[in-house]
Amino acid sequence: MNNPISASGESLDHGRSIVFRNGLVLTMDDAYRILKQCDVLVVGGVITEIGPNIQAPGDALSIDASGGILMPGMIDTHRHMWQTAMRAYGADWTLSQYFVWYYLEHGKNFRPQDVFAGNLLSAIEAVDAGVTTSVDWSHGLQTIDHADAAVDALETVPGRFVLAFGNIQRAPWEWSADKELRDFFSRRFDGKGDMLKFQIAFDVVAGPEFPERAAFEVARDLGVSVNTHAGVLGANGDDSIRLMHDNGFMGPDTILVHCATLSDDSYQRIAACGSSVSVSTESEQSAGQGYPSSWKLRQFDIPITLSHDTSVWWSADLFTAMRTTLGADRSRQHFEAHLKGETVTQLDLRSEHVIDWATRGGSKALGLDDKIGSLEVGKRADIVLIKNDESPVMFPIVNPYGHVAMQAQRADVHTVVIDGNIVKHEHRLINIDLTKARSAVESTVGFLTDTLGEEAWNAGMHPELPPKHEIDNPYHYNK
Ligand SMILES: [Zn+2]
Repeated sequence: MNNPISASGESLDHGRSIVFRNGLVLTMDDAYRILKQCDVLVVGGVITEIGPNIQAPGDALSIDASGGILMPGMIDTHRHMWQTAMRAYGADWTLSQYFVWYYLEHGKNFRPQDVFAGNLLSAIEAVDAGVTTSVDWSHGLQTIDHADAAVDALETVPGRFVLAFGNIQRAPWEWSADKELRDFFSRRFDGKGDMLKFQIAFDVVAGPEFPERAAFEVARDLGVSVNTHAGVLGANGDDSIRLMHDNGFMGPDTILVHCATLSDDSYQRIAACGSSVSVSTESEQSAGQGYPSSWKLRQFDIPITLSHDTSVWWSADLFTAMRTTLGADRSRQHFEAHLKGETVTQLDLRSEHVIDWATRGGSKALGLDDKIGSLEVGKRADIVLIKNDESPVMFPIVNPYGHVAMQAQRADVHTVVIDGNIVKHEHRLINIDLTKARSAVESTVGFLTDTLGEEAWNAGMHPELPPKHEIDNPYHYNK
């Protein structure tokens, strides 16, 4: 995969300067500036100039952005990438069916190469959809070999990743105490910069004695943040938030996932700590953690980020995350009004807000807002060009925020630049080996079907339907 070339014969080598010409730029800066017919220049991996008719270096690759939208790379703060080898297997699951399948029955069958396969496909899928930074909430790391396989996959793909280390097969106060974990962190992460970062991932569920304290202390020792599912109906709730808060383990670098079933007291504690919440609306809508929480989080000014959770159920593009979040939030606003016999005349949540959550929200939660999250001079160049001249959906662009949030799709992602390097161009992935991912995933699916046997495999995929409740209808249709 040497010397990648564009359709017009241009070199797409990493490190080459790039100038986007005549795009509509959603800066996502603090002023939410939208710039029309604007150029963006990238030199040495950094955005060096934004404006009309930029004088670019002679060797810069020129990309025609006319008819398209330039926006910052999107940031997903919670995706279980190892599960991508099981894409859509659990499309009809509830949360308890997921827990039984992965936590209790079959998750332990995943070998290091299976974690590699899922992570590789997920990493490619992310950058293809313009998700330039992904937090890999990796809770299948039963051994350090599994963890090395996860990182090997992430390092194969030229995206920005955070490995959030977890292990659902053991308690967090056990695995976090392993010397091997610290060795792994030093060996694979320490001093690696912003392309590959590290978090600790576990959930607080054990009760008032708070044994998870030990895992929080390990994270603090390593100088990394904690990413944790919270407010998950049936799994954990206000007690977990209170324990984290009372013991001083929630701060601006803590990411709380879902927070869908909590009291106002918990939301106030989260707000007071400045912690971010990762909202996975597609997940919350069908798995059952509680109502997607953005409508509630907004009331308390809690910082919001978006995530897709897992491809075992849902899509892995943040266009869908933005769209479903707008829908769920607005649905709740209408519902609350209707309960009072009122109608909504002005929507609270706007398209630009969900785009902000999909970009700046993530960069702030990850402590990377001085480097990525917006298109501003001086920031690292993580840029997405949404443009598709073949699509009847890409014109007219009269409302750019509305267009991105409600109209654009993965297939409209024309070019993706990450840390100044072209990863996708003219709708084609560059320097990325999909064949390798395909064969790795096929081998994992083959291994799992053989291991489970056909009956268990099919039963896992097709949970029984509950009996239908017949409603007695006094009216009859007579032919
Ligand atoms: Zn999750």
